[in-house]
Amino acid sequence: MSKGGIFIISGPSGSGKDTLLVELFKKRPDIKFSISSITRKMREGEKEGEKYNFISREKFEQMLENDLLLEYNIYAGNYYGTPKLPVLEASENGVDMIIEVDVNGAANIRKKLPQAISIFIMPPSYKELRRRLSGRGTETEVVIDERMHIALSEITRATEYDYIVVNEDINTAVSDIISVIDHSRLNIKRQKQLIDEVLKNVES
Ligand code: 5GP
Repeated sequence: MSKGGIFIISGPSGSGKDTLLVELFKKRPDIKFSISSITRKMREGEKEGEKYNFISREKFEQMLENDLLLEYNIYAGNYYGTPKLPVLEASENGVDMIIEVDVNGAANIRKKLPQAISIFIMPPSYKELRRRLSGRGTETEVVIDERMHIALSEITRATEYDYIVVNEDINTAVSDIISVIDHSRLNIKRQKQLIDEVLKNVES
């Protein structure tokens, strides 16, 4: 059985990646999502264990000590981390998995798992990003300013990614991500094992 693909998805807060991912998983329940452990407070509408496991700083630091995280980052004062085991299990079981992380998390995963394919979700414009963040009504102006500032530095790092998907129209953006995932089965990053197997069987 070939291994499952690992897909890193990043995009600034307010780029619409959450809505986009909800639609993607409706269309493709075969693709799994990596649930992050985080120490930020739960926002209205969020549920424990859906996108995040909301844990204390102490518990997070314990996970770090026990080497249970594939990567982690401090974002706007809170810890965000990707538990290692589910990602490795999905890969071994041939299941495609999406890991949603910030740009630092993406860089760290690339170092550890060079076969991972990365996709950056780009908002149509900076102005639209602020409109979306303010429209959410869940954050204060100070937090929005901080997130806008982080967004700018994240957008400048979009060139580190394998693909950029502009989230102007949600259906188009979802289809774009699905095509990247489906085409990746033919991508050289995922075919290394196959090449090794073919070469191993060449009679000398
Ligand atoms: P939010 O607080 O808006 O849900 O997420 C803030 C940022 O943290 C987003 O850029 C999101 O992609 C990123 N993020 C979510 N989970 C993880 C994770 O496990 N690791 C890292 N490094 N970033 C994460």
